[in-house]
Amino acid sequence: MGARGPGGAGGPTWRNWARTQSATPLRVARPRDLEALVQEVTTATAAGRRLRAVGSGHSFTGAAVTDGVQLHLDALTGVERVAPRPDGNAHVTVGAGTRLADLNAALAARGLAMRNLGDIDRQTVAGAISTGTHGTGARLGGLATQVVGCRVVTAAGDVVEVSPGHDPELFELARLGLGTAGVLAAVTLEVVPAFRLRAREAPMPLAELLTRMDELADANDHFELFWFPHTDRALAKCNNRVADDEADQPLPLLRHLVDDEVLSNGVFAVTNRLAAAYPRAVPLLNAVAGRALAGRTYTAGSADVFVARRRVRFREMEYAVPREHVPDVLRAVDRWLRTTREPVPFPLEVRFAAPDDLWLSTAHGRATGYVAVHQYHRMPHRRYFDAVERIMAEVDGRPHWGKLHSLDHVRLAALYPRLADANRVRARVDPTGTFRNDYVDRVLGPLP
Ligand SMILES: Cc1cc2nc3c(=O)[nH]c(=O)nc-3n(C[C@H](O)[C@H](O)[C@H](O)COP(=O)(O)OP(=O)(O)OC[C@H]3O[C@@H](n4cnc5c(N)ncnc54)[C@H](O)[C@@H]3O)c2cc1C
Repeated sequence: MGARGPGGAGGPTWRNWARTQSATPLRVARPRDLEALVQEVTTATAAGRRLRAVGSGHSFTGAAVTDGVQLHLDALTGVERVAPRPDGNAHVTVGAGTRLADLNAALAARGLAMRNLGDIDRQTVAGAISTGTHGTGARLGGLATQVVGCRVVTAAGDVVEVSPGHDPELFELARLGLGTAGVLAAVTLEVVPAFRLRAREAPMPLAELLTRMDELADANDHFELFWFPHTDRALAKCNNRVADDEADQPLPLLRHLVDDEVLSNGVFAVTNRLAAAYPRAVPLLNAVAGRALAGRTYTAGSADVFVARRRVRFREMEYAVPREHVPDVLRAVDRWLRTTREPVPFPLEVRFAAPDDLWLSTAHGRATGYVAVHQYHRMPHRRYFDAVERIMAEVDGRPHWGKLHSLDHVRLAALYPRLADANRVRARVDPTGTFRNDYVDRVLGPLP
């Protein structure tokens, strides 16, 4: 969560979770209801000030940074309405500031669940959808594909309910638009009946995983892999729905502690500290960590399987590439790491998504593989990330809007066929640029 200073005018320093961004807003506001939110936006626009809502500060980029008014929507949270659908799904309207963890709990209490999720639940609903947050599943889309309506406060202070049937173009920008459509006050999500997943985690040689990647992505509801650089050791994670009458196979507590607490957090933290102190030892440390990877199988509620704890702080860059290029991308990264011996103690992560039609979705129009690289926050990341970015450029990779990258709007316009449409809608609803910030200027460009 972003570290925040005390509220008040001109002074508090805000920092994001990764400590890659900071801001000293002119004013920090926590509107207590929709009326107060509208007042904040109207006043900012009239004064020619910039304004930006911030979620839980989990973006690595400057997406949430503002030198103007910073809004925290802690008061606009919780479930507002549940509308059951004939197919058993439901449309659930929640306050935009609701944390995913709270959303998951509220849905579970009603026998419902998100169709797919990313790997943490600290984000707010608005923050997560605005940057295209995704999980994994070759037949599934990211969180924004599950949005069926948004309540937006535009720069003029109008409160608009947008959906595919009402102002579909503004709906496009609202459900995935880096907060440029306006401030989201509420979001309506299509959710599904609660379900359980069987998680199967198996260590595998990287070479085998690369040749079986397509098969595994297609054969599993949710497939992802982790690979330790400087080794040929990887972990395949296959999560699949289980039938309602199938017995639970819970993870023994000790196993849970060993795998999640020790390998991913506690011992992993020690490994990373050692790596920062002795960078040359990284291949050895990774070899030990890679060998410690163990298989396990368990069943649990979907949110419990999707969500992990991430207590070791890191920097991350993630690119969405046409799915067929993933093996070659990984081989190229492997070659670069072996040639340079760049010390990287963090595993790479690979996930999948179905093609979608959201204007600014990283999976727009193509079956997608996501390749994410991480670096411990106390170690330099630039050389590594720059090298990976060059590899991604060769396959028309699109960067995650919330994770570190160096692309600008000229390159992004070539990668996103509907970026000009997004800017056209921005110009309509925010002609004076209330919702601009430096990051938006860089990645979306000037208002037409
Ligand atoms: C440990 C960690 C794990 C992560 N795991 C994943 C993952 O599995 N998959 C994935 O895709 N990403 C992942 N991310 C990235 C993360 O999901 C995104 O960066 C997300 O945007 C963070 O949400 P947030 O609530 O912190 O929003 P912030 O980072 O605070 O804001 C994100 C954007 O949303 C805008 N915004 C926030 N609230 C509103 C509002 N009410 N109205 C309009 N605009 C608003 C902000 O202005 C900003 O542009 C991870 C990040 C971290 C640090």
